[in-house]
Amino acid sequence: MGVEGKKALVTGASRGIGRAVSVALAAAGADVAINYSSDSGGAEETLRMVREKGVDAFIARADVSEYEGASSMFKDILARWGRLDILVNNAGITRDQLLARMKPDDWDSVLRVNLTGAFNCARLAARPMMRNRWGRIVNMASVAGIAGNPGQVNYSAAKAGLIGMTRTLARELGPFGVTVNAVAPGLVETGMIRDIPAKAKEDLMSRIPLGRVATVDDVAGSVMFLASDAGSYVTGHVLVVDGGLTA
Ligand code: NAP
Repeated sequence: MGVEGKKALVTGASRGIGRAVSVALAAAGADVAINYSSDSGGAEETLRMVREKGVDAFIARADVSEYEGASSMFKDILARWGRLDILVNNAGITRDQLLARMKPDDWDSVLRVNLTGAFNCARLAARPMMRNRWGRIVNMASVAGIAGNPGQVNYSAAKAGLIGMTRTLARELGPFGVTVNAVAPGLVETGMIRDIPAKAKEDLMSRIPLGRVATVDDVAGSVMFLASDAGSYVTGHVLVVDGGLTA
């Protein structure tokens, strides 16, 4: 796929989509830095699964929403590999609540992790990628950032911001051989959707033409397309992976 020997960082890789992306990158021959902020057991399990593919891998712990922490993670990565080729900005959280009940802290924390975290890592990755005249940045957005979703004003604003960031960075970094794209999943079977009330989930399911939620591998496949040679002329794009939910 053209990612053999490439050096990749996947944020939020201790479970869910980030773990699946890490394993898919490793299966295609990329070395992987596995980021997480608190779930050390999950990160260890991802590390084990990635190493099974025979590539170089290590855990790069940092809260991506803190610039200093993200910066020291990048120092470690560059000290080990001397470069970074692929960045998957996947770390994300939800703190759902209708507007009137949403606490300002819930607004702040979702913006900080989902949007500022991606900005921090993109900023730190840009220079080494530009220097090499090659790079791939894939941002994990959501259909909530395109269509909006009641109860997710913080999350949808963060993901819409991420889409704006993707388009701007595609223009800024394209001349240096760096592509920047977003993947926008619909409903994916991970811990993140565990707390959606059964009725709301049923309602959503009934509107998915493909009749099922996405697996983490469905999403990882799209990330791989954008990170691989197959996607080398695609930049500034938002790849919707929602089984037709927003079609
Ligand atoms: P998940 O299973 O809850 O995993 C989230 C990951 O993000 C975990 O590894 C978590 O690790 C990490 N994380 C959270 N805060 C972090 C921080 N401050 N710094 C570093 N890592 C952090 O969620 P998921 O469903 O796989 O979601 C992954 C991405 O896909 C998110 O951006 C999410 O918004 C997006 N997405 C998900 C769905 C869905 O239906 N599941 C749909 C659309 C988009 P720690 O707990 O160790 O920090």
